[in-house]
Amino acid sequence: MTDAGIRTLLIEDNPIHARLIQRLLDEVEGQHFQVQTVDRLDLGLQHLRQNVVDIVLLDLVLPDSEELATYFRVRAEATDLPIVILTGLDDINLAARAVEAGAQDFMVKSKLNAMSLGRSIHYAMEMTRAQRGEWDSPMFRLAQQQFLKASQLMKLDDNLRQRLLYPQRTLIVSFPFRRDEQDQVETVFGYRVQHVLSMGPTKGGIRYHPEVNLGETAALAMWMTWKCALVQLPFGGAKGGVRFDPTDFSRGELQRLTRRYTSEIIGMIGPDKDIPAPDMGTDAQVMSWVMDTYSQQVGHTVPAVVTGKPVVLGGSEGRNEATGRGLVYVVEAAARKIDMDLSSATAVVQGFGNVGSNAARIFHDSGVTVTGVSDVHGGLHNARGLDIPAVVDYVQRHRTTEGYPEADPVSNEELLQLPCDILAPCAMQNQITARNADRLRCRMLAEGANGPTTLEADEILHDRGVYQLPDILANAGGVTVSYFEWVQDTQNYTWSLQQINERLQQIVTGAYERTARRAETQHLDMRTAALIEGIERVVEAKLARGLFP
Ligand code: GLU
Repeated sequence: MTDAGIRTLLIEDNPIHARLIQRLLDEVEGQHFQVQTVDRLDLGLQHLRQNVVDIVLLDLVLPDSEELATYFRVRAEATDLPIVILTGLDDINLAARAVEAGAQDFMVKSKLNAMSLGRSIHYAMEMTRAQRGEWDSPMFRLAQQQFLKASQLMKLDDNLRQRLLYPQRTLIVSFPFRRDEQDQVETVFGYRVQHVLSMGPTKGGIRYHPEVNLGETAALAMWMTWKCALVQLPFGGAKGGVRFDPTDFSRGELQRLTRRYTSEIIGMIGPDKDIPAPDMGTDAQVMSWVMDTYSQQVGHTVPAVVTGKPVVLGGSEGRNEATGRGLVYVVEAAARKIDMDLSSATAVVQGFGNVGSNAARIFHDSGVTVTGVSDVHGGLHNARGLDIPAVVDYVQRHRTTEGYPEADPVSNEELLQLPCDILAPCAMQNQITARNADRLRCRMLAEGANGPTTLEADEILHDRGVYQLPDILANAGGVTVSYFEWVQDTQNYTWSLQQINERLQQIVTGAYERTARRAETQHLDMRTAALIEGIERVVEAKLARGLFP
């Protein structure tokens, strides 16, 4: 940007639209645009090669280039320039995919006005600055894009859209802890991100994984906000994490690292402020150390500062298996809706950590035939059905599914493509992508993991008629029983396992029904419907609270 204004390249072949946009840019208050308009992609690329440009406004369908290829060719020429897609109402999905691929925003041409255009350009430039720096991560881009798509469809007010696009509070720490060899001190990076502070305390797990970074933690925090709002819990979303591989560490090392991480983030957490829980790489033992460290600091025992603790420390009955159980409850509600008979249905579960192993076990107990499971090393397949209690027992003894005798070994990629009624990805993010979405052979996709499916894959699955149960719905059982745990801790009163499971079923089934109803009446895919359910509640709360000062 110079004093002469924002150097804008408008690539648009429809002269009426080009003139309209030029006129609107002239009307934007407080910003001056120097616009160069071209009507073909080759001319646009040539301009980019020969001139300095601050922003590109891009129509994807041009005489010499079509659809996503248009975006990719501009991006290849201008690797870190903000790009705003101009789209017709019919092409919103295409525009959304361009944003998932890295464009900063899209604007519907028939709905443009000077103010919205000026703001979109301003925020696209701001986002590029942020993404070039600390927020850069494919997962955060996915979370933002899902949100942007939902916010376009629900016609969300621009001010709120911008407010919700980034987390409200973020802490990055680097801290040391002692390895078992006494002279060795290691420094690691830790994060705690609170996305929305308007709903009550914030809530979300702590992840220990070698790929944890700020963008990933922010994406997970954002998903927690929508998840809590979708199941109507009085929490905003948060997430934390430490970047290291817990499988390489001894119990003593894990304890020292956890205690130091807790004391680094101690100002942010508390039963009325922000309540951590387990996530990938952490468990009830880690939560016990977090609770103990916090309690030591404040001078008395505070069970409600974390959830997912052992029952003896104020943990809740049923919390350990709650994510898997919630997933099965949501699948049962969906099966009633789409007339799937679960007693003759088959399921394949990817991932055998807390979520996957419990989901597989509960499917098995409720009469669903589980034909495939996997862990990080690979998968098992048996078309006649796996004896899940025997697999659980085998994994307890060998720490892997690998080598289990009563099944054929398959890779994780092959596992996802096994024919089945229900496929439940319960492992990592980014598993179902444009690369394999057309090869999935399930009727229903129940997402136990956070962010397992990319936006492009969503569309392929939607077109192929796969019934999707999105992550913020299908895995909401965990945080729901976390909420029960927090309520029991603050009331010093315990509920029975039966009460817990009944209330869990009621809450997640209710959320499923609201989502399915919205998807049907508004002709939305299930993910967008679930997101809008969540976003609407947050927006209502934010508007009711107003702006300080
Ligand atoms: N980490 C879990 C999730 O992603 C649970 C969070 C919680 O219980 O607070 O939903």
